[in-house]
Amino acid sequence: MKEYFLDPFKPNFSNFIEQLMQLNDNVKQYIRNDVARVPSSIEENYATLLSKEELSEQGEDLDAIYSKLAYYSQGLIRWNHPGALINVNPPASIPSTAVSSYFSLFSPNGAQDMSTGYLLTTELAVVKMLSQLADIDYKQSGGYFTFGGKSTNIHAIKHGLQRISKDYGTNGIRDDVVTFSSTQGHPCHAEACNWLGIGDKNCIRISTNKMGEINLEELENSMSAALEQGKKVACITLNGGTTIQMTIDPIKKVVDIRDRLVKKYELEYIPRIHIDSVIGWVWLFFKNYDFATNPLNFSGKALQKLQRQMKRISEIRYADSFGVDFHKTGFAPYLSSVYITKDKSELFDQNHYKGISYDELEYGNYSPFQYTLELSRPLNGALAAYVNLKSFGIQGFQKIIGGLMDASEYLKDLLTDTKRFEIINNEDSDGFVTLFVAKEDMNSPSFFDLGELQADAIEQFGQYNYKFYLFLLEKQKKGECWFSIDYSTGYHRLSNGKKLGVLKAYPMTPYFDKQAVEKLTEDIVRFQQEFDKVKETFVVKEVPHKPRPFVYR
Ligand SMILES: *Cc1c(COP(=O)(O)O)cnc(C)c1O
Repeated sequence: MKEYFLDPFKPNFSNFIEQLMQLNDNVKQYIRNDVARVPSSIEENYATLLSKEELSEQGEDLDAIYSKLAYYSQGLIRWNHPGALINVNPPASIPSTAVSSYFSLFSPNGAQDMSTGYLLTTELAVVKMLSQLADIDYKQSGGYFTFGGKSTNIHAIKHGLQRISKDYGTNGIRDDVVTFSSTQGHPCHAEACNWLGIGDKNCIRISTNKMGEINLEELENSMSAALEQGKKVACITLNGGTTIQMTIDPIKKVVDIRDRLVKKYELEYIPRIHIDSVIGWVWLFFKNYDFATNPLNFSGKALQKLQRQMKRISEIRYADSFGVDFHKTGFAPYLSSVYITKDKSELFDQNHYKGISYDELEYGNYSPFQYTLELSRPLNGALAAYVNLKSFGIQGFQKIIGGLMDASEYLKDLLTDTKRFEIINNEDSDGFVTLFVAKEDMNSPSFFDLGELQADAIEQFGQYNYKFYLFLLEKQKKGECWFSIDYSTGYHRLSNGKKLGVLKAYPMTPYFDKQAVEKLTEDIVRFQQEFDKVKETFVVKEVPHKPRPFVYR
């Protein structure tokens, strides 16, 4: 079996490279460079596929296994392709993937530093760099990599519980505890309460304004009411960039409300304020961008949005903690999430571990497993994040994110010019996602007037748009459509209070440039003309995956 392991005496890394090449030789046979999704001819359901999967006695040939993996890569989305427009799923950069894979050969366990050489320095360095970006004191702050944005939110609430009572960890939660988030907050803000034994119904969701920002008055009233009932507030989780609308809540104003209520109710603890900035942290890269001279030449509208987002997220320094997903807007492979807290001592359950000061950390005493949720810990996330931060630099991130903002504004303009598509998030999002609807003809009502219409007219509008989505899916399956957009409930409600499914273009790759936008517009218009000819009788037959259901609810 030695052939499967690196020879310690004569390490031959070309074995590793060769296997990567061998895998690639297999996978690339399925890839079509011009389309985002790897074409698929698999028709079987999982039960049928699994009926052919058995553990073998002798072990199988690697080539056969790699060929099987290649077979399973059918349907895979290639996120580096400009036609991959489905979700916040970035292409992983080559250096971050190389470093993450290479060091896997050495199995560095981030539980403690003793066996990982100084590689855990990368984790500490990323925490330092992010603290500096956020304008918080990196000698006082602390953080670590964990298993996802969801985990960063779990950590925040756990550390909020510790503020209420340092004995909760030992004795269990002895109070009636609530947390706050907004109706636009990610579902995991409540799921975290579920996992922590608080209960997801005790995550109180506050309504938002048109920009998706938390309603401050309602938050203050709701918090006051909870406190008056003797409840304890473990955490206020604010949005630092929601997934689609990319809303950033008014952080400083919420901190002021919290501070006022601490005084008013003479609280013995300070309710934690955590920013779920797993997506929106990336606007911190613009804090020193010269918006007046605009050296990277972003277009007017993109520039204004960038500046507004930068101003909002720069208030992150007033919060107690925040989360960053490098596997989202950091272009690292999964998983690469960091949780950062302004006061490092809050990372620890003080009944069990006191922590070590910044200047006393030295090789041999850095042992994150003593306080992280994980015991064994992968270093891949830290290594990947480190390499991207160092190699892109501030300007690299500005170019990618600014580029996505620029291209998206261009897409909105071009789609609007066609008069057959209506952009529905022009006014209420400063992000780079485009939400739009296909209109049956130029005189179809505006999406925003639909709420006033009869139910069947709304249904017809929605069905036209939905069937066009199915039509595009079928085109993908046939290999005739290079892009994959999504069908989404979005965040808009019609004036009748209902939600209608819309189309979503979520670009994440630097290859989504102006040229790609022009081709996308041209082709989507052409596909719509084709669809119009068959729309009365169109029934979808072939699809690359089970389609999303029609939404009008
Ligand atoms: C993706 C996302 C999460 C969850 O993060 P994971 O890394 O998927 O666990 C939480 N909040 C927001 C705003 C997100 O976009």
